[in-house]
Amino acid sequence: MKSVLFLRQTILFVAFIILTTAASCQPADTCYKTIQVAEKTWAIVENNSVNIYVVEGNDSALIIDTGYGTGDLKKYIRSLTKLPVIAVNTHGHEDHAGNDHQFPNICAHPDDFGMINSHFEGQGKSNTILIPIREGHIFDLGGRKLEVIEVPGHTRGSICLLDPSHRILFAGDNTNTVVWLFLKECCPLEVYLKSLQKVEKRMEEYDIIMPGHNTPLDKTFITEQIACVKSILDGTCSPVPYNYSSFTAGAMLCKFKTAEVAYDPDNLFIKK
Ligand SMILES: [Zn+2]
Repeated sequence: MKSVLFLRQTILFVAFIILTTAASCQPADTCYKTIQVAEKTWAIVENNSVNIYVVEGNDSALIIDTGYGTGDLKKYIRSLTKLPVIAVNTHGHEDHAGNDHQFPNICAHPDDFGMINSHFEGQGKSNTILIPIREGHIFDLGGRKLEVIEVPGHTRGSICLLDPSHRILFAGDNTNTVVWLFLKECCPLEVYLKSLQKVEKRMEEYDIIMPGHNTPLDKTFITEQIACVKSILDGTCSPVPYNYSSFTAGAMLCKFKTAEVAYDPDNLFIKK
């Protein structure tokens, strides 16, 4: 009898392990970890990989990106803020726009609408309405305003969000320790350099960068990124192949101090 009981317990335990592994994102909040990164500002880290930011004003909260879509983000956000929410995409990649279908409206740059709509096709019919936002658009959350800065490069419709009251730049994938500029939807590196110089010009207004992936960066990181891109364009960098995955074949990598840029050597300059 004892051995039967032991066997039953073992089977139940193994079944529990299999179930919890297979459904590692159920309940929904097990996909997400929250870190408070500033006053009324949280990073929701999904699958230890991508950052979703929740930015609270007095009247509403801005959700910056929606992540991979592996959990119930809308429900999870309610554990952080009770205010009405506005959702925005820094760009259209699916690790940043994967839960867009949960929201009635998504603000994004129209140059990335095609990419965002293609994710909806994968998720079945969506009633989400895309709202175009461009350079200079202000999200007024009540006592806290965030400004849209267009930064084409990583994608054509990439944006940063400047939060001068909290001295933060939310950068999406425009600023990461390694920035990907080798994808087919990326702009020539020369265009990306102009975007970096544009946010560098606003440096008096922020101290810290909240990137799309990994931990916050000091604003001086942008100066390193600029030096890195310039060294690629003027040929002074000695690149190495970027062996991240099979889909990075042909991409090259340059490094300057702590900044790395992975790029396509055939997409450096604007074609005249
Ligand atoms: Zn991206």
